[in-house]
Amino acid sequence: MTKLFDAGLSRRLFLCGTGGLLGGALSPTAAFAQGGGNGGGGVLPPDRPTGRPHPKMEKEMPEAPGKRLGYAVVGLGQFALNQIIPSFAESKSSKLVAVVSGNPDKARDVATRHGVPETNIYGYDTFDRIAENDEIDVVYIILPNSLHAEYTVRAFKAGKHVLCEKPMAVTPDECETMIRAGREANRKLMIAYRAQYEPYNLEAMRMAREGELGAIRLVTSDHGRVLDPKVPADQWRMVKALAGGGSLYDIGIYSLQAARYITGEEPVEVYGRIFSDPSDPRFKEVEDTVAFQLRFPSGTLANLSSSYSTAPVKRIQVFGSKASLTLDPATEYYKHQMIVKTEMEERRVQIPEANQFAAEMDHFSKAIMENREPKTPGEEGLRDVRILQAVYRSAREGQPISLETTGSTGK
Ligand code: NAD
Repeated sequence: MTKLFDAGLSRRLFLCGTGGLLGGALSPTAAFAQGGGNGGGGVLPPDRPTGRPHPKMEKEMPEAPGKRLGYAVVGLGQFALNQIIPSFAESKSSKLVAVVSGNPDKARDVATRHGVPETNIYGYDTFDRIAENDEIDVVYIILPNSLHAEYTVRAFKAGKHVLCEKPMAVTPDECETMIRAGREANRKLMIAYRAQYEPYNLEAMRMAREGELGAIRLVTSDHGRVLDPKVPADQWRMVKALAGGGSLYDIGIYSLQAARYITGEEPVEVYGRIFSDPSDPRFKEVEDTVAFQLRFPSGTLANLSSSYSTAPVKRIQVFGSKASLTLDPATEYYKHQMIVKTEMEERRVQIPEANQFAAEMDHFSKAIMENREPKTPGEEGLRDVRILQAVYRSAREGQPISLETTGSTGK
């Protein structure tokens, strides 16, 4: 008989009974107060030092304890306003110092509410003047996908580091241009793959990679929601020139990321299928539902999907020879739920929630201050964009596409 039990595989886990999962969950703030911030238990792999420090950084290091880097947020849309800007209050090494928006009234309102001085409000036309503002260390780009490359390059030209939202850009060429621009400017580039800074995902990754589930045979991950043309943030998502693609680019990237970070491998083959109702005006330019399979060098398979016309789903499942793990929701902003099942038992895993956005920004700030490579650099974004393009190609050609790969994420 299946039962819930309280014994843990890991010291970091706080297990609870059937009714206790949500009731016992800590708020993001409480979790941070208890030290559950970056990585929720120290499961981030050690950072790797990279090349020679920029002269300015050499001069600045080591940073005074408690120093916060100044961020300019570019694009004041729903994600920036509802998730990122409020999360600065929970960050330890990052602070909001500037905003960039095409809407001066909105920018002034946000600036006033968050203590940003009038002098640090920029429009897209005055963006390049950030070069003269020493308070800004990092530019966080939260614009429609097709604008990521342009603003990244401009930010590097202004001498700033760049945190860029997912997907990194629309084409692999754009991603390569962004990486090159960062190298030329001797500045760092990180892609905002928040799930890689979220405690439940980190724990799932650890369990899979440390063999607690046995040999991983299959990973499944599904991300879906209903695209709503009445919502402004969904309007550009229906325009290929702005979004780059449909559900695959927007949320299928979470399914792809899950398969890569759970296995720690790079896929060697991809096979994709796409369905969009031709009579649905939402899908004139971008795709609706995508199912795709990956094959990894170890033999592990991944069955992944994304959709713009299903009820909400944000799920990851990992099937190992000893146990299976379900994280559902897996890539929510908070309130994740994890269940691990073996033949004999089923247990809920509870770990303190943490503000993944603050953790992500602080990881980048620390990487800059300590001159280390961030965990999710531009190369990570480029890998995903290449694989997503291969999914499209596979669906077009009706056959699997072989991927050039080193076989490992190197993490
Ligand atoms: P949004 O439409 O709410 O915000 C986009 C902002 O860009 C708006 O303020 C808009 O005015 C501005 N903008 C500037 N130029 C524009 C143009 N030419 N066309 C349209 N808008 C323009 O969208 P969003 O949902 O906040 O998404 C923004 C980015 O953040 C996307 O890259 C998206 O993938 C990413 N995102 C990431 C997450 C995550 O969990 N990591 C969640 C949501 C969105």
